[in-house]
Amino acid sequence: MKPAPFRYARPETLAEAVELLAGGDHDVKILAGGQSLVPMLNLRLVRPSVLIDLNGVAGLDRIVPGPAGGLTIGALVRHAALADSVLVKEQAPLLAEAARHVGHPAIRHRGTLGGTLAHADPAAELPAALVLLDARIVLHGWRGERTIPASEFFLGLLTTALAADEIVTEIQVPPHGPGWGFAEAVRRAGDFALAGVMTVAVRPEPSGRLASIRLVGFGIGDRPVRFVEAERIITHPAFVARADVTRVAAAAAAACDPPDDVHASADYRRHLAAVLTGEVVDQALARLDGARRT
Ligand SMILES: Cc1cc2nc3c(=O)[nH]c(=O)nc-3n(C[C@H](O)[C@H](O)[C@H](O)COP(=O)(O)OP(=O)(O)OC[C@H]3O[C@@H](n4cnc5c(N)ncnc54)[C@H](O)[C@@H]3O)c2cc1C
Repeated sequence: MKPAPFRYARPETLAEAVELLAGGDHDVKILAGGQSLVPMLNLRLVRPSVLIDLNGVAGLDRIVPGPAGGLTIGALVRHAALADSVLVKEQAPLLAEAARHVGHPAIRHRGTLGGTLAHADPAAELPAALVLLDARIVLHGWRGERTIPASEFFLGLLTTALAADEIVTEIQVPPHGPGWGFAEAVRRAGDFALAGVMTVAVRPEPSGRLASIRLVGFGIGDRPVRFVEAERIITHPAFVARADVTRVAAAAAAACDPPDDVHASADYRRHLAAVLTGEVVDQALARLDGARRT
């Protein structure tokens, strides 16, 4: 099938794009990488009267150091650019790793960070990475600019806090240390994950105990989910790695509310979340050990 007819607009500035969004009663859609939107247009699941192609807007495709450390990433930055960026690998290596796991090379060379955030697929890697890293998402609309934490941006399946007349323009990502881990289960390389877990952890010297850890699962609920109880168990002063590993796995599984579908049962996804949690914690500990030795 082909899309229903629409008017095509290609603004060259953000101000023009915002004006087009605000301009009247028509149903407007933004086009970024087109990797999710074009199939939806072709299947006529969406029928905008105006399509605003963001790709002509200058300045939205940059990755630069943030004003207080970390990164400022434009909404039009492609997944491949995130995965390959030296700056991203230095400041937030987990984000580069997550980008490397998105789809296939063709998808990664067209798909954008802003697009994957606005689309809000619960099995997507980058939304989960930004929740994990406590990133902030900058939105522009005709009423002005606002910035919201990634943890408040995802409201449910394909649903976000983005208003119909707003554009995701940039993402502010704090830096993270060497203690991180990423794991996902897929049937074939490049597929959306059946389930995935990622972590960042900090171990204080010299006790060896983890001072803080954040764990986020994806593909196991209607949005990225923090495993708060598992985090609490791991950072408790009485935590004993070998004895408490079953409690951590059980807490991770209990935080999930996964779909039961043709790809995997809800029980299997919960099982994956438990196993992958152990795997990413091990990865983080190994990286922390490696960093201490160098
Ligand atoms: C075969 C295949 C496999 C894939 N596998 C994966 C995978 O494993 N993991 C994964 O995470 N994703 C996967 N994807 C999706 C891919 O990551 C898309 O790039 C992403 O979901 C959408 O980004 P986009 O730039 O292509 O956005 P588009 O398709 O252009 O837009 C998607 C939606 O976001 C809106 N939008 C886009 N940019 C903005 C903006 N700046 N401000 C406001 N609204 C905006 C659009 O209006 C539309 O509603 C896959 C896609 C395909 C086709």
